[in-house]
Amino acid sequence: MNEFMGFSYENDSQLLHMQDIVHYNELNNQGRGAARHLSAVLPAISSAIGTPISTAIHDNPEQLQHDLGLPNVTSAIVVLIDGLGYWNVVERKGHAPYLRNLLSRNNNDRPISTCFPSTTVAAMGVFGTGTCPGLTGMTGYSQINPATRELSQMIKFTGGLVPEDVQTQPTIFEKLSEQGVRVTTCGMPQFKKSALTRAALRGTLYISGNTAAHRLEAAIKASHMPGLTYLYIRDADKMGHQYGWDDEHWIGVFENIDSQLRTLASRCAPGTLIVITADHGMINSNPSTRIDISEDESLIQGVEQVGGEPRAVALYACEGENPNDIAERWKARLGNRALIMTRDDAVDSGIYGPVSDEVKPYLGDVIAIACDDTTLIDSRTQSDQATRLPSVHGSLTKAELDIPFFVDVL
Ligand SMILES: [Zn+2]
Repeated sequence: MNEFMGFSYENDSQLLHMQDIVHYNELNNQGRGAARHLSAVLPAISSAIGTPISTAIHDNPEQLQHDLGLPNVTSAIVVLIDGLGYWNVVERKGHAPYLRNLLSRNNNDRPISTCFPSTTVAAMGVFGTGTCPGLTGMTGYSQINPATRELSQMIKFTGGLVPEDVQTQPTIFEKLSEQGVRVTTCGMPQFKKSALTRAALRGTLYISGNTAAHRLEAAIKASHMPGLTYLYIRDADKMGHQYGWDDEHWIGVFENIDSQLRTLASRCAPGTLIVITADHGMINSNPSTRIDISEDESLIQGVEQVGGEPRAVALYACEGENPNDIAERWKARLGNRALIMTRDDAVDSGIYGPVSDEVKPYLGDVIAIACDDTTLIDSRTQSDQATRLPSVHGSLTKAELDIPFFVDVL
């Protein structure tokens, strides 16, 4: 039995341990938070390339550079691999000679932390702005549009939310570009003007490449000029959701990613700094611990919209409903299967970082954070496939929160 914010739960395996909330500005007792956090990655790199950029939550990028062990360089590449958690790498390192070698080096052999919820929308906002979901307004896979009470899917910003209106923090890329630093994204053509790019990653020269090889070539070429290059690799997350993160399809993709990274390291300009990180890790779901919210009157009662994702659910209350009553019913029904907090408790706990008044309405009135391998789905609004993903993420377990911060200096 373990305690988390006064909440008891049991664990099946170490990687499903719930972690303490990561405080953005202080290292916690496991050495996560402050520099060892996704929000610190771009500020630290900005300092490493000689143009330190501070953010609303990180006022000393030079210190972050020092704490993360980054040398001064003229050219840096940051590679973000969607869904490739630290423990996913460790458990399958036999398939990845380049990453295995990096992992054995000092400083690379321990994870940093992503944000809550441990999911792409929230993490990309955190990465791109060097801040936290409480300031970016990108708070989960789906969230409410307070003006219409409709749900907005936040990868595409459906439901009437405008990326630039929701996410008002300047991006690190924008700030570097303003100061005359070259910033290049090597990405898929369809993401050049995507909602997520506009919200979290705006301000770069975007080079589209149709294939992984084209994008790699573009990054290698860019590394020969001073500045910062950003390369995004999507396939690990995609394969994980489709087949499971330990399935042979996933392993094939993982091997391919390792070989892309090895090529990058062998062909970039001498002196280039390569940083490899991720937005979140993944766990396998378990059909026997899947809970369908729609089948349970005590879970539906008083809830107008169910947002978030299966591992981190955001409940929006019907008008006149007291969120405490919803929270009590969910606690009674779910016991130790999920951690239930009202919005106020969640904000006070620091789980979203500092929260601005503009962002508060996007957060659920009640938040349910799944424990162990539980998933909380809603078959009224989610497709059957979306409710049965073999691998998932979003919660606070070690497997989902811990991400790599691998450094290679060429
Ligand atoms: Zn995902």
